[in-house]
Formats: sequence, C-alpha cells, structure tokens
Amino acid sequence: MYTHQILVVGGGLAGCRAAVAAADLGANVAILSRVHPVRSHSGAAQGGINGALGTADPKDSPEAHTYFTIKGSDFLADQDAVQTMCQEAPSRIIEMEHWGAPFSRMEDGRIAQRPFGGAGFPRTCFSADKTGHVLMHTLFEQCLKRQVQVYEERHILSLVVDQDPKNPAARRARGVIALHMTEGKLESYRADAVIMATGGAGRIYRKTTNAHVNTGIGMALAYWKGAPLEDMEFVQFHPTGLFGTNILISEGARAEGGYLKNKDGERFMKRYAEKFMELAPRDIVARAIATEINEGRGYPGGYVHLDLTHVGRERIEERLPGIRDLSINFAGVDPVEAPIPIQPSHHYTMGGIACDINGTTPLPGLYACGETACVSVHGANRLGGNSLLETVVFGARAGAAAAQYAKANPTEANGKIFDAETQAAEKKIRGLGQGEATEDYAAIKTEMGNTMDDQVQVFRNEKDLRRALDKIRELKGRFPGVRLRRKGLRYNLDLIHILELEAMLDLAEVITLGALARTESRGSHSRTDHPTRDDTHWLKHTLATHTPQGPKLDYKPVTITQWKPEARVY
Ligand SMILES: Cc1cc2nc3c(=O)[nH]c(=O)nc-3n(C[C@H](O)[C@H](O)[C@H](O)COP(=O)(O)OP(=O)(O)OC[C@H]3O[C@@H](n4cnc5c(N)ncnc54)[C@H](O)[C@@H]3O)c2cc1C
Repeated sequence: MYTHQILVVGGGLAGCRAAVAAADLGANVAILSRVHPVRSHSGAAQGGINGALGTADPKDSPEAHTYFTIKGSDFLADQDAVQTMCQEAPSRIIEMEHWGAPFSRMEDGRIAQRPFGGAGFPRTCFSADKTGHVLMHTLFEQCLKRQVQVYEERHILSLVVDQDPKNPAARRARGVIALHMTEGKLESYRADAVIMATGGAGRIYRKTTNAHVNTGIGMALAYWKGAPLEDMEFVQFHPTGLFGTNILISEGARAEGGYLKNKDGERFMKRYAEKFMELAPRDIVARAIATEINEGRGYPGGYVHLDLTHVGRERIEERLPGIRDLSINFAGVDPVEAPIPIQPSHHYTMGGIACDINGTTPLPGLYACGETACVSVHGANRLGGNSLLETVVFGARAGAAAAQYAKANPTEANGKIFDAETQAAEKKIRGLGQGEATEDYAAIKTEMGNTMDDQVQVFRNEKDLRRALDKIRELKGRFPGVRLRRKGLRYNLDLIHILELEAMLDLAEVITLGALARTESRGSHSRTDHPTRDDTHWLKHTLATHTPQGPKLDYKPVTITQWKPEARVY
C-alpha cells in the first residue's frame, strides 16, 4: 500500500501542473502514470499555447480571448470558466517562461505569437512546432525540483471509492488500484484526494492524431464510479491530419501562411469563411474539407492539399521543422517543394469528467483536469492553442483545490475497501484467462474504430447514429467472449488493451447516444438532418451517468455571463 495526500493519475501537462501546485501548498503528492511523464501525449503538441500577451498585437486582451473562445465554442462553453482561463493565461505562460520554456521570440526578444484559427488576434505562443515537448520537459523539471514521487509504467485498474466517515451517506474517492506493468503486480495507492489527469479518448476512433495511450480510461473509471461525463458528443476533428497515417499537421502550418486547395487548385475556404479563410475555427475548416471531398473536389482516396510552397524554405525550417520532417518521412513530400496531402482526423475530446473551475467533481475527493476533464471551456468546439492553456491553468487550480481538500479531510485508515477492490480486479483478470475465447479483442476494436470513423464523424445523421449505437451495443455484447492470449501479468499488453477496450466501448456508447439525442448542429456536432443551432432547446450541457442498463442522459444549463449567443460568421 502506497499512501500519499494527493495522487495524480497521469503525468501529462495537466497532471504535472497539478502536482506542482499541490506540492507548493505543502502536500505530499505523487504521480502515477502509464508512460513516463515526458512521453505523455502533451509532448506531441506542436502549434502553441494561447494567452493575450499582446506582443504581436497590442490590441489583444484577455477579454478578446474570452469572447473569441466563447464564439468558437458555439456558445456552449461556460462563460465564467472561459473568463477564468483567459484572465490567468498570461501569468501562466510567463511562469512557464520563467521556469525555462524556450519560446520562439520576436526580433526584440519578446515572446512571439502566431495567429490561430478563430482567435481574432495572433495570440498563440510557441516554440517552433515543438511547443508541447518543451512545456512537458519544463514542467517535469519542476516536479523533480519538488521531489514529486513518480510511479511510472503503472496502468490504473480502478478508482477506489469509500463512504465518507464524517458523512456516511456521502461517497468519497480514496485512491486507486494499479497494475505495475513491468513487475506484473497489483498495487494499492491510498490518498486523501485523487486527481484524474489521464488525457483524451482519441483511440476510440481509428483515424486519430492521438497517441496509443489516449484511451480515455480515466474518464471511464470515474464514470463507472458515479462521476458524470459532460458533453461527450462533442468530438473535434482536426482539419489537417496527414493523409494515410493521420499524424497531425499543426494549425501552425496555416498560421505561418499555408493555403488549403482542392484538386482544381482553388483556395476553397473563401466559400466557407470569407474573412478568416484557412484560419476559421476547426469545426468550420474540417466541414469545408469534408464537403470538398464529398462533392468530388478532393483527390482520389479522399484528401485535399495544404500548400506551404509559397511560405519559403527559411521560414519553414525555422518555424515548422517538425512538420517538414513528418511530411517527408510519412508522406514522402517535402513541403518546401510540394503541397502536403491532408484529411480531417479525430483530434480532441471536448467532453470529459464534469467538474468546476477548481477541478472539483460531484464525487468528493475526486478532481479532474486537462483533456480528461470538462470544465467546460471548449464547449462545442475548441480553439487551437486553448488546450495546452487549459492544462496549465486548470491543472494548477485542481492541484491547489485537492491539496486544500486533503488538508481539511485527512484519510481514515480503511484497508478493507482496497482489499475488496484488489480482489475484484484479480477476479476480473482471472476470468479473462479462463476458458476459450469466442471473440478477438483486436477485431472488436477495429470494428468500433471503423464505426466511429464512418458514422459518428464530421457530418452526422439519425440513421448513421442509430446504426452506430446498435453496433457499439453489439460489440459490448461480444466483449465478454474475449480472452487473454498470454496469462502472465508482467508487461502483458494483451491484458491492458483488453481492459482499455472495455472502457472505450462504454465511452463510444456515451458519445453516440449523446450525439443521437442532440437534434441540432452546434460546433463540432453537425447533424445533416438538423442543420441549425437550436438555442431554445439545446443551449445546455449533456451529462451522462453510468447505469447497468447503459448511460442515462441529463442536461444542465450553460453559464452565460455577458455574451449572448450570436450567429457565427467568420
Ligand atoms: C498531435 C497533437 C498535437 C496537439 N497540439 C496542440 C497544440 O499545439 N496546442 C494545444 O493547445 N493543444 C494541442 N493538442 C492538445 C493537447 O496537447 C492535449 O489536449 C493536452 O496536452 C492533454 O494534456 P493532459 O495532461 O490532459 O493529457 P496527456 O498529455 O495525454 O497525458 C495523459 C497522461 O495519462 C496517463 N495515463 C493514460 N492512461 C493511463 C492509465 N491507464 N493508467 C495510468 N496513467 C494513464 C498517461 O501516461 C499520461 O501521462 C495536441 C494534441 C495532439 C494529439
């Protein structure tokens, strides 16, 4: 049994920032992570982090950042939360700079900012096209400096929830059971507060820019223990995934001047967003590309071109060196000389564990931050550069809130609940090793991914969504026929993938059910059978709660402070 005041699950930017904040309040804090923290998906972030520093344009302000974020969200974001994020953005970015993050600079030495989609001003701070990598290393160093204990190569199996001794009617998160992947042992981690920072759920789709570890398991574990998931139907498709592999080609490429062109060589964005063109919000650009492809103006196989040839070798080498490498290595195209073939790809999970601006979830003792959380600052569509920002702003807030909660509510020793959870996990794993398999987990995963890619995609409609829901439920019905091919627990990826698949099937169900119920088009959720936004009936958040029969949907109002919903013209 390992005991800490605060246990952060996930060592990405959100988890590391939460750990730093909790440690700064004197809490004993540990990070538990499936991969070494710097290998988290945060390290793959390319384009940048938003904050109204006003270096590239002094007219920019936190108020403008707030307004454009809310408009970008198609008015589904909670406006108080967006205000908090945008107000705190500059100080969090300067903090990262002072901790040593090597941002790209302007001639005069101040932090450079590039224009990102739907932002209204050049507001995205960056480090060439390796922003996530430098921020990740900077924050991990801060964890090391504070001697935060890191348990890496641990796969979380369950969230341990107990009665609260002070209030027996109330449940409380107490810790987790995890699998030590290299040693093959089950371990108990007891804490006064647990912070879930396990990242997004991209791997539910096949065509995704996300890393293999982004299965959304943290969301599922919280959901299974009664924490509701919010707005899961809002799934972001990035306009420019590399054709074939879906590796991300950063929005930074368009920020540096890249054009989108169809097979006729036309800059088609003029027909979809006359003013913002290639730098319209992602939902609009993704739909434009999908429309070009669907209407026969894409290239055979289904892609269009991202053309950087006019940007020039020098600027590409300075500002987009990683993009150039990816394009050469994975598409055989040097963007200095030829356009890059791209298609929309699944990219980001706007929804997540419902929580407030301090990461507090409805389950006492459980906090959430980063992509696994839904605060909600992205609403129906996230603006590029706001996610890295969310990790540092709300990571810090969740870490501080959890530390305060832990101080006020120290854990009573209760080993029994951990024994029971461990036994349940052991039983589940034993069951997976017994008898003959009637199903192959890889086949189920592929069918799930294809279903999501084809039917819960950029454009949706009732018929497709119903078919997808039936298919996911069929797959859930087949899942109990899956068995382990290798029984040992030591580095058994077969086991881990099976457990992740179980989580992903439930999340796929929540996404699809929410999308089917929402009979309007808003942000990334575009229903061809309900093509307009319906504020009268749908200006509200979806909340999905787990029941043995499947997800139960409820709704809650959107917090509107001063920005009334308006038409989104770009
Ligand atoms: C290719 C790419 C480029 C991006 N570029 C940008 C950008 O330029 N700007 C921007 O704002 N946003 C960008 N994003 C989005 C942004 O990077 C992410 O939303 C953000 O970094 C998520 O951080 P996180 O800390 O919440 O999660 P992650 O960084 O994904 O970390 C999740 C952590 O959870 C742990 N974990 C997962 N499963 C388990 C488990 N079963 N047990 C234990 N631990 C587990 C992992 O080990 C990991 O440490 C990009 C995303 C991608 C995929």
